[in-house]
Amino acid sequence: AAKPIQIKVVLLGEAAVGKSSLVLRFVNDEFQENKEPTIGAAFLTQKVRLDDSVLKLDIWDTAGQERFHSLAPMYYRNAQAAVVVYDITRSSSLDRAKSWIKELQRQANPNIVIALVGNKLDLAGDSADTAPGAADASAETESTSVDADEAAGAEEGRSRQVAAATARSYAEEAGLLFLETSAKTGEGVVETFTEIAKKLDLN
Ligand code: GDP
Ligand code: MG
Repeated sequence: AAKPIQIKVVLLGEAAVGKSSLVLRFVNDEFQENKEPTIGAAFLTQKVRLDDSVLKLDIWDTAGQERFHSLAPMYYRNAQAAVVVYDITRSSSLDRAKSWIKELQRQANPNIVIALVGNKLDLAGDSADTAPGAADASAETESTSVDADEAAGAEEGRSRQVAAATARSYAEEAGLLFLETSAKTGEGVVETFTEIAKKLDLN
């Protein structure tokens, strides 16, 4: 078997969109409802197997870029790929994602593979891109845990603010991969990193 190719992937996006949760789902296949915020940057490794190659992804999960933006270039410098995350229930988080993408396109490695990822698909409350059964089931579970939700900042009760079609057409125009995910259910998570690996593999 070929020796794994090592790839640096950086996660960017507004606080609380689910960056750490996506990495945790991808690497450990787990989800924590009230995740402790990341302090500084953490990095985790996971392999992606393609037909005739293995890519070893070193995934840099960052926090605090909102307040310490000047540190961000340190994270995306030398990155071959970036996952820019927004929360489909907060349209302001897509605006923030777009400004990260502009910055990456200006300042990062010119060949960087960028994926725009709309997370929290389980909260969509619509059936456009979700299996209707799965959406209904999760909505019901969530409505029974009101106390916990309030403590967590009441994620539940939120619903989609960003149409998939809107984000997808922006992504196509900007030359990005586009996926919707749920770190909670796992939907789209492995696909995100596999799509990135496939695109890198062609470079
Ligand atoms: P980060 O600041 O971008 O790293 O976001 P976190 O991973 O810390 O997640 C922020 C909050 O959103 C936590 O309470 C998570 O449990 C929650 N969260 C993350 N991903 C999802 C998701 O896909 N669905 C739902 N319902 N909640 C999520
Ligand atoms: Mg985090």
